[in-house]
Amino acid sequence: MAMLEVKDLEVYYGVIQAIKGISFEVNEGEVIALIGANGAGKTTILHTVTGLLHPKHGSVIFEGQDITKVPAHKIVTMGMAHVPEGRRVFAELSVYENLKMGAYTRKNKDEIEENLENVYKRFPRLEERKKQMAGTLSGGEQQMLAMGRALMSKPKIILMDEPSMGLSPILVNEIFDIIQAVSESGTTVLLVEQNAKKALAIADRAYVLETGNITMSGNATELLNDTSVKKAYLGE
Ligand code: ATP
Repeated sequence: MAMLEVKDLEVYYGVIQAIKGISFEVNEGEVIALIGANGAGKTTILHTVTGLLHPKHGSVIFEGQDITKVPAHKIVTMGMAHVPEGRRVFAELSVYENLKMGAYTRKNKDEIEENLENVYKRFPRLEERKKQMAGTLSGGEQQMLAMGRALMSKPKIILMDEPSMGLSPILVNEIFDIIQAVSESGTTVLLVEQNAKKALAIADRAYVLETGNITMSGNATELLNDTSVKKAYLGE
């Protein structure tokens, strides 16, 4: 059984259909990439999976349970964390306070403390800057904070919306190394990216999204070598 199963999803904004009947699955331990151009519907899919949007048709099944109508705050407690597009850190709060917010679903203080230590180990830059206001961090540091905050809920699966957006090539590499490390430590990853080259380099499998439809899917290495993917998404 897949950890996350999305079936025949159709999502509308008013009368406009953004997602036109898509299905995909994510197995435990996998890194799955959803790639596609601007406006293809990537963010809409993540918002529907995390309960921020509700589909007109179709379903979202997480660990065998239908969560299509479950509100977002409940879905977080089930073990799904979302790193939103554009980071969305709490600008007026410190790095430390932002991280603590990520653990709001959890009760055990010792466990939260231990988790905080793990996040600081993964992101030494955040520990150095734990008292700094999040709004004054650089773009890359804010991305690290958004990821660290998501990890504070100790998720089984982490959904990331364009982590590379607006970052320099060096930082993009750093962020992707961290995503790979998060995956290796046992967290399943669903990654939405316009940077297809980077996403395919770390993914196990991927789906190509075009104006609300999945037009291609498969093993990430195969897609990296596919002529039409190369032409449309890899600038080759
Ligand atoms: P990007 O890479 O640019 O973020 P995306 O693949 O994440 O794009 P979405 O943001 O999911 O794409 O948008 C899919 C389609 O739905 C687009 O045509 C977009 O204009 C439309 N859309 C998104 N949000 C809304 C909204 N709140 N109201 C109306 N239309 C919307």
